[in-house]
Amino acid sequence: ATPTSIMVGTGRGAELGVLFRRGEALQLLKDARVVAVDKTGTLTEGRPALTDLELAIGFDRAKVLGLVSAVEAKSEHPIARAIVDAATDEGIALPPVTDFQSVTGFGVTALVEGQRVEIGADRFMIELGHDVAGFAAVAERLGDEGKTPLYAAIDGRLAAIIAVADPIKDTTPAAIEAMHALGLKVAMITGDNARTARAIASRLGIDEVVAEVLPDGKVDAVRRLKAEHGKVAFVGDGINDAPALAEADVGLAIGTGTDIAIEAADVVLMSGSLQGVPNAIALSKATIGNIR
Ligand code: ADP
Ligand code: MG
Repeated sequence: ATPTSIMVGTGRGAELGVLFRRGEALQLLKDARVVAVDKTGTLTEGRPALTDLELAIGFDRAKVLGLVSAVEAKSEHPIARAIVDAATDEGIALPPVTDFQSVTGFGVTALVEGQRVEIGADRFMIELGHDVAGFAAVAERLGDEGKTPLYAAIDGRLAAIIAVADPIKDTTPAAIEAMHALGLKVAMITGDNARTARAIASRLGIDEVVAEVLPDGKVDAVRRLKAEHGKVAFVGDGINDAPALAEADVGLAIGTGTDIAIEAADVVLMSGSLQGVPNAIALSKATIGNIR
């Protein structure tokens, strides 16, 4: 590609809301074989809402939601906001919290009025030594519905299973169709529950799912996709996507995402829509493919 064609392509990108932070990205994108995509905040709105709360025998809804929300009020995770909002809507007051701890990719714990409260994924509960078998069937159903199942334990007893659901962005289905039309394979990489991830992937026609990955695991997943398929573009919005954005042949950040993701990316999608990805790839093919 000539410097002129790069300039023209970069300018055309800007008109489409696709900001090339590195000119090289415009040249590399045309050779991408796989687009790997973060789920929360990239495919979905990143604003989950609480949909279900099923109690174990002997537990009271307002009590459990109050304890859980008090802990989640200390967390920055989108799941946390969903739970706190539900408690607020139900007029439940949040008791004071001490000893808050957040375990990235697993969940959160704290002491609330002398009670030990633990909330998180099934793998977190298992690590804490709680038996989740009693809720397994419910968790599977919730996952198959595309909801994220979470467990709450109070003083060592499993008290409730909670689900949150995060709506798919309106622009996502057409963007995935456009990537398929360009001959690309689409993969989802997420820290979320495997059944939940598979349910959402199958709704969207996504080809491959890597779920329940810890923050470092996204880099490993990108590396494996590169080894298996060739050039990989990765799309993400979060702090935990930054290493994968850097590892990919081309990293594309959602413009509405965190600054850390944007800093790590080669391309920024200003509109916040995934449609920017097929647009950028088509632009690369048109600019670099035809002009020499
Ligand atoms: P992602 O950003 O892909 O959802 P994370 O690594 O942030 O991945 O979270 C993975 C999982 O860890 C969540 O799906 C949830 O099960 C659990 N988790 C993380 N933070 C919290 C929290 N504050 N409350 C409850 N569960 C949490
Ligand atoms: Mg995200």
